[in-house]
Amino acid sequence: MAKEPTNKSSATNRKTAVQPDPKGSPNSPPAQGEKEKTAATTAPERRSPPSKKPEVEPAAKPKAEPVSAPETGQPSQPPGSKSVASAAPSKSEKVPAPASPKVLAAKPVGPVSSAAARAETVQPAVAEPPAQLEPADLAPTSVAAPAQPQSTHVEEPLPAEEPMSAEEPAPHHYHRPNLFIVQIAPEMAPVAKVGGLADVVFGLSRELAIRGNHVEIVLPKYDNMRYDHIYNLQVDYQDLWVPWYEGAIHCTVYFGFVYDRRCFFIEPHSNDNFFNRGSIYGFQDDVMRYAFFTRAAMEFLWKANKHPDVIHCHDWQTALAPVYLYEFYQRMGMTHPRVCLTIHNYQHQGVTGAELLRATGLHDTGRFFDYNRLRDNHHPNALNLLKGGIVYANFVTTVSPRYAFETKDQGQGFGLEPTLHTHHVKYGGVTNGIDYDVWNPEVDRHIPMRYGVDSLEGKYDNKRALRHRLMLADNEKPIVAFIGRLDPQKGLELVRHAIFYALERGAQFVLLGSSPYQGINNDFWGLKHMLNDSPDCHLEIGFNEELSHLIYAGADMMLVPSRFEPCGLTQMVALRYGTVPVVRSVGGLADTVFDKDYPDRPLHESNGYVFDHYDPPGLESALGRAIACYFEYPNDFRELMKNGMRSDYSWNRPGEDYLNIYDYIREK
Ligand code: ADP
Repeated sequence: MAKEPTNKSSATNRKTAVQPDPKGSPNSPPAQGEKEKTAATTAPERRSPPSKKPEVEPAAKPKAEPVSAPETGQPSQPPGSKSVASAAPSKSEKVPAPASPKVLAAKPVGPVSSAAARAETVQPAVAEPPAQLEPADLAPTSVAAPAQPQSTHVEEPLPAEEPMSAEEPAPHHYHRPNLFIVQIAPEMAPVAKVGGLADVVFGLSRELAIRGNHVEIVLPKYDNMRYDHIYNLQVDYQDLWVPWYEGAIHCTVYFGFVYDRRCFFIEPHSNDNFFNRGSIYGFQDDVMRYAFFTRAAMEFLWKANKHPDVIHCHDWQTALAPVYLYEFYQRMGMTHPRVCLTIHNYQHQGVTGAELLRATGLHDTGRFFDYNRLRDNHHPNALNLLKGGIVYANFVTTVSPRYAFETKDQGQGFGLEPTLHTHHVKYGGVTNGIDYDVWNPEVDRHIPMRYGVDSLEGKYDNKRALRHRLMLADNEKPIVAFIGRLDPQKGLELVRHAIFYALERGAQFVLLGSSPYQGINNDFWGLKHMLNDSPDCHLEIGFNEELSHLIYAGADMMLVPSRFEPCGLTQMVALRYGTVPVVRSVGGLADTVFDKDYPDRPLHESNGYVFDHYDPPGLESALGRAIACYFEYPNDFRELMKNGMRSDYSWNRPGEDYLNIYDYIREK
């Protein structure tokens, strides 16, 4: 019978293991002696002290027309903003109390006018401090405030020598109007899902709608969609002619509900057969397919007389939306919408040749083959759709603050770093949420025993069920799991290493994953055969949503050793299910998992194990500590599980962040 950790925890260890830094500095690494005590069984990797928080950059409000600034690394100067030199608020200016001191200290001198800085002081756009003021995060509150330079209040004299007050100011209640938001996306769960983007469109749309906004989603009408999830599909717009090359392609637009979400599906009728190919991606003309889809979506909005406040587009596939808006549709009368672009992964950018310009009607080659617009930073003969989106959008987000920082400042932008620097005033990170209707162990219908933070015993019934299903031995070992695409991005060498290491350290290992690359699948099939006789290991090569629920519920630890990870959903789902994440400190993993032994946050926020270096010793340092804690300090381990389960990784906070961004950019 699977046994949950027994109560032999040592109180002393608990103290030494998770004592906050005696100096009280949240950013300093633990004292050396402390490290040694916590690492009794496994020498921990020397984790470098948490890197200095990058500065929170001030923002100038992006204007409706994109600003073409040379890619010199200098931010473009929006009209009306004053000189860089005058940016820092003077000492006598009152500092708003709600923002954390750390954030305020990080306020750099930047291209925000002193008037705007004062506006921030006296006129916070929202009552609450921003949820995440992290690295390159232009969190909405921090950006929204300077966005009111025209406000008459801005020029009012400030109470001159008023001393700084530690007291909370009276809350400002800012009533944001309900907005009309159109998401243009290549995927949406569960009807057309390849990756996390699909979950974001699905989850965010619901969150925005329940907050009173009107949300519509425009998608391609793929032949392989899950039509069983679409309710009441019917023709909405019969004859949509979409300009393409010298002519136009006839399209039909359908409307249907996907779990209450209002969706339009565009079906083109041409020999290109853009979306009737049996799968979503993987075709030689993918760039053309999505350049067409995005044009069709914009044409539909225009012809159907829709004037959303915000168009939210996603990844390179729909990054041309703001380009089309500002190059075509604005002068055709679509002057109201503003565009937010979310980048889910910089690895794919939609790099293509000049043919795109002919197809889309962006005829002025000199204009678009310009480094300030769509010309790829590294291939002089190529255009880059994602770059075009960054240049033209009114705001650009990526899916975690840390990834925003890594892409702009740490060489993770796959060549777009200079573009991000140029446009940094409108760039920030918002950590994704997970859908609590789908991922909730208290109501999950895919698992045999439901449980919550106050009924953790139920988790061990799921552990038994998982073992039974995968024919693993029923013993006292912890189960380490990996769920994910078998893509080099996910750290496959370390996954492989972890399997053998976990077995050697007395744990069991379960893997669920698949790869579009046959070679990778073959490697893992080979590994599976090699480990076939082990009663403590099971590798499941394939995609199985239902099994994934049982693994999240039944495993003790979830490994995510990614090379890079824009946000990552696996660790967030694992936290929700009380499965302790063991992750590499990159991207969204660094923003959501906080090491038990090296706390730079309050104790109750420690929720997992983290390592820095992408190598076997790095991995062992974290996984070894996790396994040791499970065996030797089960009460501590249980606390970690509960901490994870108690934290909120729903769409609640990101929904608020996106609404702040929309409110900031919308035409007022
Ligand atoms: P990415 O978007 O890079 O693939 P994320 O961590 O953002 O990675 O999202 C992955 C999601 O897909 C998670 O919800 C995970 O549970 C799910 N998933 C990945 N691989 C599989 C699989 N083989 N079977 C079932 N679910 C999977």
